Amino acid sequence: MNFHHNINCPDCSHPIPIETTLLLAGQSFSCSNPQCHVSITLSSTEVDRVANAFDQLSSLREDAIKHSGQDEVYENQPGG
Ligand SMILES: [Zn+2]
Repeated sequence: MNFHHNINCPDCSHPIPIETTLLLAGQSFSCSNPQCHVSITLSSTEVDRVANAFDQLSSLREDAIKHSGQDEVYENQPGG
């Protein structure tokens, strides 16, 4: 699972490009604004929560795919 996201910097609202897998691994991401020194990182408890959220998200997706993929078409042929 590898998601790219842009988080708006809480300080200067520049986009901060993050990769969820790296973020979950404890990597910190710096603001794209060179004059801003904000960096985003998750604490271990937050990692747990976010990982959980992504887990649910992916299972939701799978569910949606399952539902849309299950196109059972009953063809009743008249006569026979
Ligand atoms: Zn910033």
